[in-house]
Order: sequence, then C-alpha cells, then structure tokens
Amino acid sequence: MTPYPEPSFATRCAVAFKQLLVEQTFTPVQLIDMLITENCNCRCDYCFIEGKRARTMSEEIVRATVDFLLLKSRHQKKPEILFLGGEPLLAFDMMQLTVDYGQRQAERYYKKLVFSMTTNGTLFDDEKLSFCRRHGIKFLLSIDGDEETHNTHRKFADGRGTYKAVADRIPLMKQYQL
Ligand code: SF4
Repeated sequence: MTPYPEPSFATRCAVAFKQLLVEQTFTPVQLIDMLITENCNCRCDYCFIEGKRARTMSEEIVRATVDFLLLKSRHQKKPEILFLGGEPLLAFDMMQLTVDYGQRQAERYYKKLVFSMTTNGTLFDDEKLSFCRRHGIKFLLSIDGDEETHNTHRKFADGRGTYKAVADRIPLMKQYQL
C-alpha cells in the first residue's frame, strides 16, 4: 500500500487554524460528570448502572479528562468536575489523583477546579470527609424519605437497607461541614 504523503507545513497550519475557528464557535465546557467507577456497594431498585462491574477509571483517563476540561473550558476560570458512580468513594484513590493532578494542572492555566460528588453516603469516614473538606468537595447525598421508604428502595448488596448506615454518619458529616 502506498503511504500517504506527509501534509505540508501550509496544510497543517490551515487545518490548525480551521480547528481553532471551529472550537471558538462551541460553548465552553464548564462541567464534566466523571463516572469514576461502575462499582457500588448498594443495589438500589431504580439504579441505572447495570451490572455494577468493578471497573474504575484508569490513571491515564483521569489525567486526560482533567486536561480536556482545562483546555475546553477556554475562558471559564472555575470549571467543575462532578464525581459520579456507581459509588465514587469506592474509587477514592482515583478521586485523590483527580484532585491532586487537577489542582496542579489548573494552576498552569491560571484556573481553579471546583469539585463535587454524588454519593450514597455509606462509606464516609474521617479520612474521606477530611479530604472533602480540605479540597472543598461538596456532596449530594441520597436519602429517600423516612427509614421505611428509604430502605424499600435503597439497599446494600446483601439486601439490608442503607438508612441506618447513612443516618449514623450524619454527625460525622456535620463535623467536617464547611
Ligand atoms: S447508590 Fe447509586 S450507584 Fe449505587 S446502587 Fe444506588 S443508585 Fe446505583
């Protein structure tokens, strides 16, 4: 097969310029939902994550996601990452990497990354809450009403309701509240 010839410098410049023009017409990316793991310790009856495979984002994808957001947010100074799962706290090491890498990279762009998380709240402990506090990570917690209603829909993998696990952690969450 005959190899394609290398594009000339002029062609490469034209392509780069066109790409730049196209990019300027797109709305900047302000927020990325980062589905950091498909895994979850719960089995809620309305969950949209099929299978709950123990799959977690790789370091490479984490870094690429951060770089993509910082670049594509263009003039936005505070782009956001929302950690989702599965249960994001099951991928706590990857969350830490995202925040650490993200904050360092953001400085190079003169930006500040803002982080938040949707969590089932059953895995919080001092280490995780203190990490959230240190980095200003806000979180959205799911409680589906009173204990009976909540436990009807939100269960651990072994079938137990999760209400008590969440409710018992609320004082600790308050302790670390910003
Ligand atoms: S906590 Fe979230 S991800 Fe886990 S089973 Fe419930 S709805 Fe699905």
